[in-house]
Amino acid sequence: MMDCCSQPGLMPIETARSRLLAEIKPVAGVETVSLKNAVGRILAVGVRSAVDLPPCDNSAMDGYALHSTDLDAQAPLRQIGKSFAGAPFTGEVLPGTCVRIMTGAVLPAGTDAVVMQEHVSADGDDIHIHGAVRRGAHIRRRGEDVSAGEILLGAGVRISVPHIALLAAAGIATLNVVRRPKIGVFSSGDELRQPGDSLGKGDIYDSNRTALLAALSELKLDILDLGILPDDKNVIREKLAQAAREADAIVTSGGVSVGEADYTREVLEEMGEIGFWKVAMKPGKPFAFGRLAGIPFFGLPGNPVSALVTFYQLVVPALETMQGGSWSGAPTLRAKLLKPVEKKPGRTDFQRGFYCNDPTTGLCVEPMGTQGSHILSGLAAANCFIVLEQDSGSVETGDLVTIEPLRPPLGG
Ligand code: AMP
Ligand code: MG
Repeated sequence: MMDCCSQPGLMPIETARSRLLAEIKPVAGVETVSLKNAVGRILAVGVRSAVDLPPCDNSAMDGYALHSTDLDAQAPLRQIGKSFAGAPFTGEVLPGTCVRIMTGAVLPAGTDAVVMQEHVSADGDDIHIHGAVRRGAHIRRRGEDVSAGEILLGAGVRISVPHIALLAAAGIATLNVVRRPKIGVFSSGDELRQPGDSLGKGDIYDSNRTALLAALSELKLDILDLGILPDDKNVIREKLAQAAREADAIVTSGGVSVGEADYTREVLEEMGEIGFWKVAMKPGKPFAFGRLAGIPFFGLPGNPVSALVTFYQLVVPALETMQGGSWSGAPTLRAKLLKPVEKKPGRTDFQRGFYCNDPTTGLCVEPMGTQGSHILSGLAAANCFIVLEQDSGSVETGDLVTIEPLRPPLGG
């Protein structure tokens, strides 16, 4: 027997994602941002290093710089000066002599090894070395990290904090990044109220738009917030037209199902076109993708978990592509299931789960207790989706399943 929502003819999620991505074009336009404001932005132009990193041979330790062949003689070495980070020793180190050196200080001419200060005893300027010292010891070589002219990051990369560290180390102060696409957002439903306002009987708070606005700003997108719309075709028409004029894409929630007040899809069909509607996924079946005046339209289901799951699975890859990045699929892991999950073939399931690494059994995952598409507490407590493929049936305790750890904007 099929469950109420498995229907033949629903579009497999992989097809939905690739159909939708095939229609998404990167936005035109580049802007220059300072390095400190570049996290999360997508590089429009690749960046090369103008310098070697490290810029010159330097010491990895606090100690003494010397010539390694001097160590064959058992005689102490005479300290002839000091080399500090930022204040190098400028003379030449001749046989029989050494230089006191600090971490990061330039290696003086004539030296080829550093001995840690812990392996030395000093008697005035006479330095006694204990133990063997190998040539090249404790020296960081010029260019061993990056050489001048090397590409540091290519176009299309989303800038992370480690990227910032690398670029700053190479002396780069500004970056050319892709313009932020502007996303028009509204939620629709006569029952929806803004958090902070009071609720009348039958009202609920608009969690979808609030969460979507947060997700979009986390993804470094510009936002056109069109607010909460009533179930009124004229208002929906007017706001869709505004979004088409002012935004690069539209994300809405609610009004795409089959209820009598589900007008968003109907109005889109009248003003633009529906590319596809209804995806073989759970939650999220009523997802609609379309076009309006040349810009993409993503109609998320109203149910809050469905809205965020479809946003994550179908809209985030599209937004990445619009920003000039490339979506290469979500990283997945395999984990041992700690509780059985009932499922009927027909739709890809995105169960909310919590995974952890058990010292004896390895990676394990537990499905959250209640999986309804209105159960936000389960999504909020989850750290992964348990992805059960469209054709799979129920899975048992101990089965290995695919999990997708939640990444920004939904997790970690
Ligand atoms: P709909 O898709 O408009 O039929 O809505 C499906 C369910 O999701 C209904 O229970 C709505 O009340 C609820 N819903 C719709 N929009 C939102 C929203 N923005 N925030 C929270 N719940 C919503
Ligand atoms: Mg509604």
